[in-house]
Amino acid sequence: MESWIEHRKIRPKLLVVDDQPLNIRVLNELFRHDHDVFMATRGEQAIAICREQRPDLVLLDVVMEGMDGYQVCRELQADPLTRDIPIIFVSAKGEEEDEAFGLELGAVDYISKPFNSNIVRARAKTHLTLKLQSDYLRSLTRLDGMTGIANRRCFDDNLNNAWAQACRSGSPLSLLMIDIDYFKRYNDHYGHQQGDLCLKQVAMALAGATSRPSDLVARYGGEEFACLLPDTQQEGAILIARKMLTEVEALAIAHPLSDVGDRVSLSIGVATLVPSAQADPTQLVRDADEQLYKAKHAGRGRMNVDPG
Ligand code: GH3
Ligand code: MG
Ligand code: MG
Repeated sequence: MESWIEHRKIRPKLLVVDDQPLNIRVLNELFRHDHDVFMATRGEQAIAICREQRPDLVLLDVVMEGMDGYQVCRELQADPLTRDIPIIFVSAKGEEEDEAFGLELGAVDYISKPFNSNIVRARAKTHLTLKLQSDYLRSLTRLDGMTGIANRRCFDDNLNNAWAQACRSGSPLSLLMIDIDYFKRYNDHYGHQQGDLCLKQVAMALAGATSRPSDLVARYGGEEFACLLPDTQQEGAILIARKMLTEVEALAIAHPLSDVGDRVSLSIGVATLVPSAQADPTQLVRDADEQLYKAKHAGRGRMNVDPG
């Protein structure tokens, strides 16, 4: 039977750490066909690669010049960025106490040198499968099941992170609050199933209107969406909001009961702030919400922008 990894066509990232280049070469040979293998001969280098590449598994030598494997393990576990990367010690120290010590430090497994290649491969595969499965499950907790875009929890996390980042860098943060016009009437007219279909189409159009990897479109709740634009001035936010209005209009989803026109339309509130330690992210949400409310009252099918 195909394994879970093979089925998902993922090339797992593996970091091999050993101060003897010959040992690294042997392990690289063993894994390079179906893994992306990274290599380090020093502890500090191993930690830097983990922060940058986030490997799915580390094969870690214990006795090394300078920082040893135990210390590398401790440092990786102390950093939230690298805490979830599983570590297998691969060591010439083969006593039971050595193995117990390594496992108690938090390694998922311990392999003594000289090792049997088939056993190393099999154990690595087991731990990689578990790691990729838990990554996948974690990603599901951040997605909205119906539309497939980010959910409210993911939005809240991103807002807090982006706020903290913007506080440090002094760069502006923009937020769009987006709401479908007369959506209750849409449901009443076409039924909830058709309503759900409309939400999915709108979600895809909104997600397609942003372009930077740091931009986030999320389902905020019901028929309301939020779009977080880090490092974006008011003009940039207006551009994205305009694109969203146009692209949802271009979906041309009939809405005979709308007072705006004959198609599904949006109202959008736009707000931009340069975050400071005195303010907090709820201020940005309140500002964008207030503009959304104004857009609704000014006749819907439009954006309203916080003067700043
Ligand atoms: P407005 O233009 O002022 O925004 O009016 P509206 O009718 O869109 O706003 P209101 O808040 O009164 O109603 C929102 C509706 O959205 C009510 C609810 O039936 C519908 N809705 C919320 N979540 C879902 C969903 O997951 N699926 C469907 N089909 N409808 C939903
Ligand atoms: Mg609405
Ligand atoms: Mg609403």
